[in-house]
Amino acid sequence: MLDLAIIGGGPAGLTAGLYATRGGLKSVVMYEKGMPGGQITQSSEVENYPGVCEVVTGMELMECWPKQCMRFGLKHEMKEVLRISKKNSVFTVHLQNETVEAKSVIVATGSTPKRAGFEGEEEFLGKGVSTCATCDGFFYKDKEVAVLGGGDTALEEAIFLSKIASKVYLIHRRESFRAAPATVERAIKNEKIEFILNATVKKAYGNAMGLEGIILSKNGEEIDLKVPGIFVFVGMRVNNEVLKQEDGSYLCSLTEWGEVKVDLRMRTDVPGLFAAGDIRQEAPKQVVCAAADGATAAIEAISYVEKIGEVG
Ligand code: FAD
Ligand code: NAP
Repeated sequence: MLDLAIIGGGPAGLTAGLYATRGGLKSVVMYEKGMPGGQITQSSEVENYPGVCEVVTGMELMECWPKQCMRFGLKHEMKEVLRISKKNSVFTVHLQNETVEAKSVIVATGSTPKRAGFEGEEEFLGKGVSTCATCDGFFYKDKEVAVLGGGDTALEEAIFLSKIASKVYLIHRRESFRAAPATVERAIKNEKIEFILNATVKKAYGNAMGLEGIILSKNGEEIDLKVPGIFVFVGMRVNNEVLKQEDGSYLCSLTEWGEVKVDLRMRTDVPGLFAAGDIRQEAPKQVVCAAADGATAAIEAISYVEKIGEVG
């Protein structure tokens, strides 16, 4: 039986593996369905990871993480986890053709920004199309940008971007918003935000250097908005499927948005089950925060495993 199974090999899962093995757990496996590194490997420019002074790509940032994190015995299995279940005090990790038992589990499967579905969205992702204002907003200092969406994230991030960009076009497909009325009010009062309502993005265009503009459709007419950046905030999909049980319930408590509820030690309401990174409630959705969560969860997993019995 494993001391610890880690689900997901992004910054949270990798750091959890480093701390768990260096902290004394003997059998720790990190299940990552793709290459370790996580969603940050999609970013073309990262400049807010402390200690890395030059602007690097997400791939460059994550290059040596797996090597460092596996130095103390963490094993990586390139497998997709289908489900985690728990009976008595033992967890079962359900894989395609096998099951593995573990004393403790850290879920670090992240969350995935939804795509709006316009032409060029994928092509210019990381080259003008962004899903993270904290990460990429600074690249548009004193430039005009667009924000797509009408929920809390879009409105809040538009307000955030208005402090950096010279102007923010808030594009929403309807006239009313899902965002809290107080947030909408703040955005309306913000002189740097211009609303373009009842409009959809048809296409993003540009060249090899990046985005040059977007084509909108509003009341049957086309609008050519020449912006170097568009932030797409049309909802998040929390990757919580592994917690779903056969009867449709979830192994631990989730928020109304599907995020895993944790305390400050990344403990869920199921003993021995921890969550770290973008999947947990109120995650700041930053690499440095996900890594810190992973370390916290691992430290807690070590004391949990020590408490329930022999390590090894
Ligand atoms: P993730 O990085 O999402 O990793 C989760 C991992 O779990 C993935 O590798 C996935 O393959 C794996 N997984 C999921 N389900 C399963 C399963 N069932 N079985 C096995 N494996 C599974 N943050 C910053 O700090 N600075 C930035 O500049 C920045 N820029 C960004 C740019 C882009 C384009 C994007 C998309 C994000 C950016 N972020 C940035 C946010 C940052 O990438 C995330 O906050 C961080 O990666 C979260 O780490 P995580 O480990 O929680 O999840
Ligand atoms: P959301 O509430 O689901 O809003 C998504 C928005 O994107 C909606 O306005 C939707 O339009 C629009 N949209 C969806 N698909 C689209 C498409 N293909 N093209 C164009 N527009 C599209 O998502 P969110 O803003 O990320 O918030 C997620 C949850 O987290 C929400 O429950 C939110 O309240 C919560 N949250 C809370 C806070 C806070 O409390 N401070 C902050 C952030 C998020 P329609 O409205 O027409 O469907």
